[in-house]
Amino acid sequence: MIEVEGVKIDTRHWIGGERVPSVRKFPDISPIDEAHLGDIDAGGAAEADRAVAAARATFPEWAGKTAAERGAILRRVADGIDERREDLARVETRDNGSLLRSHRRGVMPRVAMNFRFFADYAETLAHPDLEVRGHRERITYDPAGVTAIITPWNAPLMLATWRIGPALAAGNTVVLKPPEWAPLTASLLADIAHEAGLPAGVFNVVQGTGAEAGAPLTRHPGISRLSFTGSVPTAGVIAAAAAPNIVPLSFELGGKSPLLVFADCDLDLAVDLAVEQFDNAGQVCLGACRLLVQEGIAEEFTARVVERARALVQGDPRDEKTDVGALVSRQHFERVSGFVERALTGGAKALLGGGPNTGLGGLYYSPTILAGAEPGSEILTEEVFGPVLTIQTFKDEDQGVRMANDTRFGLAATLVTGDPERAERVSARLNAGTVWVNCFFVRDLGAPFGGSGKSGIGREGGTYSFDFYCDVKNTVFSPDGWRSHG
Ligand code: NAD
Repeated sequence: MIEVEGVKIDTRHWIGGERVPSVRKFPDISPIDEAHLGDIDAGGAAEADRAVAAARATFPEWAGKTAAERGAILRRVADGIDERREDLARVETRDNGSLLRSHRRGVMPRVAMNFRFFADYAETLAHPDLEVRGHRERITYDPAGVTAIITPWNAPLMLATWRIGPALAAGNTVVLKPPEWAPLTASLLADIAHEAGLPAGVFNVVQGTGAEAGAPLTRHPGISRLSFTGSVPTAGVIAAAAAPNIVPLSFELGGKSPLLVFADCDLDLAVDLAVEQFDNAGQVCLGACRLLVQEGIAEEFTARVVERARALVQGDPRDEKTDVGALVSRQHFERVSGFVERALTGGAKALLGGGPNTGLGGLYYSPTILAGAEPGSEILTEEVFGPVLTIQTFKDEDQGVRMANDTRFGLAATLVTGDPERAERVSARLNAGTVWVNCFFVRDLGAPFGGSGKSGIGREGGTYSFDFYCDVKNTVFSPDGWRSHG
């Protein structure tokens, strides 16, 4: 048991409705001040096996409940999240360094919604019968089995629950492997789910590193679905591990998304959207880190973005006034620093920032805007995942679209224009799972979310989640043959 921000957290694994310890531990370090928050139980193959066995044992009971029965419990989980919103917000902020004000106002309410929305959705899930040559075809959504869910550190509870919600609502049981750089809120979720009456074994948490606790889960023959959110290289390793068992995968991976700013746009809006990209210190998968601006307004746009970004308040993410916090870990800090140093050596100019925030020290990296990067260089092509934006200019619509699409990723793209016809033309040509027109980060949970190219496999959200977390079955009834012998 450790205490973080006044909240007691049992960081042992949660398996089959019991807390399970491991002999080995791993340290949990806070990005805010690199304080050691505690030692977390480090799971491995034995814990993964035990969790899958518990989830398999409970599966028939959970799958056998009606959607309404499951929904009633999941809504109580949502209520429990609402009741503990402040605890969850404070612990998440301490653990991964993201802004407390964002957790209080946006993230934690959404965490609860991940349970309510999918509980409601499962109850209405129905496909109209089809008819062929007088035969009736009934399409049903059956629970698939044990779902393994592996998540990253940048929005740990939000990203986990938006998979756990539909997986459980569909009647699956779940084994979650939280990120080792931000493991704490998963442990609190186990308490909340238990108190809400979720039967033992329906939701399990195995803590540990990717290589030790994650890998055995991904190659486990007892899992029926694997939902992974994280980086492209890890996804490749996981796909290979899951392949022998032919386990369906949902991959939500990285991005290098563009913000395409046309000269006919509302410039105030374009500047707002550009500065918004420093949210969560740029550690956002769908962040539009490539600013592409049309010549003609490039100078004014750039000057205004730099001025606004310079005014961002960087500091302790627990302070309501803070706009930009710290990077998640020393390792990640070095990685981000390396990208910027190499870009500067390669000829890019820092219009803002360009290095660590020396005033604050620690893991605080200054909001950085780079111009003049060499086309094709890594700063323009690789995911930095930090508070680092690049600016490039384009001449006309064709060139803008080409530059926006010049990436192996395809998670999101944002365009800003005052011309509705241009918006239609350009949005149709952008290769991305989500295209935002004159807005950013708005999405109903019923809409599909996922990436094209190297940004992922599959879509989640609404019916797309249930297509993945269920075995969709077609039963064909003949109009004849109802007479029995004799
Ligand atoms: P990561 O790939 O290093 O780790 C993600 C998770 O995978 C962690 O829990 C880790 O322990 C686990 N893992 C690592 N190796 C493993 C293995 N061999 N087997 C099983 N599990 C393993 O990613 P990260 O650094 O934690 O997160 C940042 C990445 O996540 C970025 O690329 C970001 O774009 C991406 N991301 C994507 C989305 C999305 O929805 N598309 C959302 C958030 C983050």
